[in-house]
Amino acid sequence: MTNDHDYVIAADLVFDGRQVLARHAVAIEGDRITAVAPADQLIGRGRTIDIAGTLLPGFIDLHAHVLLDRTPPDTVLRHGITTVRDTGGPLVRPSGGDGRLRVLAAGPILTAPGGYPIPVFGKDVALEVPDIATARAAVGQLVDGGAALIKIGLEPGGSAGAPWTAHETTTPPPWPLLSREVVAAIVAEAHANGLIVSAHLSGPVGAELALDAGVDEWAHVPCDLLPDALIARAAAADVRVLGTLDTQSRTTGVFQNAVRLVEAGVRLLYGTDLAHPDVPWGIDAFELQLMLHTARGALTPADVLSAATARAGEHLGLAPLGQLVAGAPADLIAVNGNALERFKLLEYPDLVVSGGVIVVEPTGSTEAAV
Ligand SMILES: [Zn+2]
Repeated sequence: MTNDHDYVIAADLVFDGRQVLARHAVAIEGDRITAVAPADQLIGRGRTIDIAGTLLPGFIDLHAHVLLDRTPPDTVLRHGITTVRDTGGPLVRPSGGDGRLRVLAAGPILTAPGGYPIPVFGKDVALEVPDIATARAAVGQLVDGGAALIKIGLEPGGSAGAPWTAHETTTPPPWPLLSREVVAAIVAEAHANGLIVSAHLSGPVGAELALDAGVDEWAHVPCDLLPDALIARAAAADVRVLGTLDTQSRTTGVFQNAVRLVEAGVRLLYGTDLAHPDVPWGIDAFELQLMLHTARGALTPADVLSAATARAGEHLGLAPLGQLVAGAPADLIAVNGNALERFKLLEYPDLVVSGGVIVVEPTGSTEAAV
């Protein structure tokens, strides 16, 4: 370790979170990226790892349940996800990003008494809020505990093929829903504390309630067909929508809804419901493929990867997390080959760096100590 940089990673292709740069390099000092420049300007300024392939930001999965499922965090990290947003489970303060998986948690899901997720996952993962006062107090409790967002359940149940219907339930649908007034109070209290509200919803009833109350984010593309008017309202309200297309791929309406949302101008963000049994413990290439296909030519592979990197970091309010730019956290992955032509490579990264700490060592690349 000499000169003014700890180490340099060069690659044939560098996806910086938005665009592809040919034959560039990234300099890393401590836990930060200090420079991104044409490779010949940075090589020689310290230990260099040279990747015959693609260097990208570490991926951000905006919809995961690794805490509830006890998914091994190191396995997720070693398969390319450097940040997860845990959207329903035990509440923990933000952690990681230092050689460990970065975890930002919502904690338990706010719901109506007996509402989803209680019939499926029990009371441990929920906070019942029967009225406005209880709802405001619950948000305050979650904020004090380090919540990175507030998650609510707006799920009447009964959607054929949805992952949450694959479990035994304690009470049959329809499950009780929060009132519009209570949801609006949750949104107001969350916003007053600088947090956004994400809603689990699956169809028109939940979507209308979320739109009426000003919910910021839909945690899923709804899996039951939405009427045109709700698609238009979601686009006009600039609601942020997470895909979770893979885990919902056996439902009746998810793909039609995704196509129509994209056509209306909604750009999906990357979230998989990681910890459900059909999602890999790491980057989910099938999710990326589905995001590309449902866009029907409206998005490029780089646009899709941006939904899991630069745009995801901005959505978290943590930009430049998710970008390869000077000043960004040194979370990076690399694959041997062109990741934009072959998303599958991303499930098996050849290099993973978290907060400057190399957690997967490169193989098949040249390394030179200078
Ligand atoms: Zn979920």
